[in-house]
Amino acid sequence: MGKPHILVVPLPAQGHVLPLMELSLCLAKQGLRVTFVNSEFIHERLVNALMERDNLGDQFRLVSIPDGLTDADRIIPGKLSEAIWGIMGEKLEELIGMIKRAGDDVSCVVADRGVGSALEVAAKMGIRRAAFCPTAAIITPLVFSIPKLINDGIIDNEGTPIKGQEIQFLPTNIPAINTKDFPWVWNGNLTMQKHLFKLIVRNNEAVKKADWLICNSAYDLEPSAFALAPEIIPVGPLLARNRLGNSAGSLWPEDSTCLKWLDQHPPCSVIYVAFGSMTIFNEKQFKELALGLELSNMPFLWVVRPNSIDCTKVAYPEGFQDRIAYRGKIVGWAPQQKVLSHPSVACFLSHCGWNSTIEGVSNGVSFLCWPYSVDQFLNERYISDVWKVGLGFNPDERGIITREEIKHKVEQLLGDENFRIRASNLKESAMNCVREGGSSYNNLQRFIQWLKA
Ligand code: UDP
Repeated sequence: MGKPHILVVPLPAQGHVLPLMELSLCLAKQGLRVTFVNSEFIHERLVNALMERDNLGDQFRLVSIPDGLTDADRIIPGKLSEAIWGIMGEKLEELIGMIKRAGDDVSCVVADRGVGSALEVAAKMGIRRAAFCPTAAIITPLVFSIPKLINDGIIDNEGTPIKGQEIQFLPTNIPAINTKDFPWVWNGNLTMQKHLFKLIVRNNEAVKKADWLICNSAYDLEPSAFALAPEIIPVGPLLARNRLGNSAGSLWPEDSTCLKWLDQHPPCSVIYVAFGSMTIFNEKQFKELALGLELSNMPFLWVVRPNSIDCTKVAYPEGFQDRIAYRGKIVGWAPQQKVLSHPSVACFLSHCGWNSTIEGVSNGVSFLCWPYSVDQFLNERYISDVWKVGLGFNPDERGIITREEIKHKVEQLLGDENFRIRASNLKESAMNCVREGGSSYNNLQRFIQWLKA
């Protein structure tokens, strides 16, 4: 019998492609054949994945399916959900049909929990399936409880909170969750919220029926969430352990000059500032952040993607780049995991995307939390309230995080040794989970045995 063939389907977005790429490389290295299915749009933008695939020979294959979206469609809320439950499901079914006609087989579909259609196609075709959750584990019981939230009058049928309130509906030591921080309440953008909520509800049905529900987290990071939902199996943190050289799966070319720049700085002296792949600033807040970094008087490495602000051109404050030339480095996309493991990094000013969160945690870095949307507010609660390895910002009455507030929080975080000590202990716990014999390591081995069976 040939090696089992696994089809892996990420949601077409950076924070979803990266961890599933890592999982896929793990599976391929353990003797499974993996076909990684991207949308054509993502496929064309993958920068380093080809090199990785070449190193793995025919164990790892990249293929793509159309999502049917034009560039204009991509920024229209709801279009991606339509594609996921429309053309992408159909094309995936065709792809599996083609694989079968070519005399091969698909023994399992591993799909991001955001691509429920892939799980549904697998079910229809009698293929075993696993859902992959790239967020904190706590998100799953939260989204599974949507019918109850509606019944209890906490949200309406479109996910809108009936009133702003702190809810302790999750037991034990999980902090109360404010309804405005529910992951579908996209920063008050009702249109985005409506579509995201509908997608989550639809995906939930497919996810619940999957044979496995694995998650990029660890028992030691979220013990209460796993106690609450024992069906979720943690296999993380999945880090770039398996990527050879550069990180496979980046959608932007990494600017590695920042590593040399970091080499020139003393230990624990640099603020690393990055907001993931999607956060978009308004011009005023962007400038205030720049001035806050300047005011902090510390060296900083700042990732400014070309599409970081909501006006056509990135606009720094007058004279900013000249003034910070000797202590600030700005790049379009950083090799983030390498940056976070660099001894010069003192703290991580982050939007608290789950990948960034666990990457910071796994490197023992403390955080300044600047969440923006979806699950990032809940992740901030973990960082600030549960693990106590970071601090949040308080916006002023205009909703702006001011330069003075930035300077103040940098000083508060770095002036208190306890943050660093707790971050270092948390790193130890998280890394123990993925070491040979650790809980996530063992879970992953169990999952691989099931895939091979
Ligand atoms: N990332 C990176 N370089 C950058 C910024 C981000 O490699 O300059 C990676 C980061 O390491 C993480 C991912 O992009 O793995 C972002 O995922 P996350 O869940 O943090 O945020 P999202 O982009 O989904 O909002």
